[in-house]
Amino acid sequence: MAVYTPTPAPENMENRISKKQIAEIVNDAYEHCKRIKEGNNAGYIPFLAKENSELFGISLCFVDGEMINIGDHEHIFGMESISKVATALLVLKEYGCETVLKMIGADATGMPYNSIMAILLEKDHPSTPLVNAGAIAAVSMVRPTGNKGQKWKSICDNVNALCGSRTEFIEELYHSEALCNFNNRSIAWLLKSYNRIYDDPELSLDLYTKQCSLGVTCQQLSTFAATIANGGVNPTSNTRIFESHLSPKITSMMASVGLYEHSGDWLFSSGIPAKTGVGGGIMGVLPGLFGIAAFAPPLDEAGNSVKAQAAIKFIMKKVGFNIFDNCSIRIDE
Ligand code: GLN
Repeated sequence: MAVYTPTPAPENMENRISKKQIAEIVNDAYEHCKRIKEGNNAGYIPFLAKENSELFGISLCFVDGEMINIGDHEHIFGMESISKVATALLVLKEYGCETVLKMIGADATGMPYNSIMAILLEKDHPSTPLVNAGAIAAVSMVRPTGNKGQKWKSICDNVNALCGSRTEFIEELYHSEALCNFNNRSIAWLLKSYNRIYDDPELSLDLYTKQCSLGVTCQQLSTFAATIANGGVNPTSNTRIFESHLSPKITSMMASVGLYEHSGDWLFSSGIPAKTGVGGGIMGVLPGLFGIAAFAPPLDEAGNSVKAQAAIKFIMKKVGFNIFDNCSIRIDE
């Protein structure tokens, strides 16, 4: 059996690294992490429970559109909560930052993504579009109010533009999730009682469930992340998807709550804002440099992919950059 020898960490004292070195690191991360056996597929959504647990892919997209791909990077899987990032951007575009802050908020809940307790505790205080309650509220804000068909088109067009290509609606995943989303239904109606949902609760819940069922590949997610890293211009289609001032806004939301109750631990140990989904995907943004996505179905107890976390942490450690590092802006005398 071949013995695996990891590539030595780059001499990154001057914060310089080549694309070739990064490609070697991504390859090493894949080899190093593919044997990880911990975690379980999302058990509460039958479609996800029966997904092949061995699947594993990584994709990294630089802000010039060049990509590094390995493993099952073309496998289509459920976007799940990563779709929350796209719809948060859509309502930020439609309403502006101040209104979104007032109508939803940008606070970490410190609780599981589907927490009802978080809504009860924060009834006079909004939370964030990146947990279920805030995401259902965000879907309810998508224009035009009451028009389900147009709203759905707007949500899909936005996701496709961010990913640089058409995503695939996974009908079976949608039905699987729609049959058992009682907790999310409670959330939608609880929001209604606090006047924190801005369209029909059932319509909003259904569109939320549908957006979670959009199928994406690692390549599409790394392109999405690279679009955020690139100030709103999709580097593969060379199209501006949102204004550059929204990049730090959405990245801050990902940093504060992207891995739910594990977000602090994640940021501390990885140094990259990221967003996970119970389909097994994770998408990370390194502003100005690259977007990264990894996918493997088995999750930890907070609903974050074990292998994908390990792979991105491995890569970040070897690449040697961290969003909390010295800022490159110079202040003139
Ligand atoms: N659709 C899933 C849910 O609402 C999304 C959760 C997730 O990916 N964390 O439970």
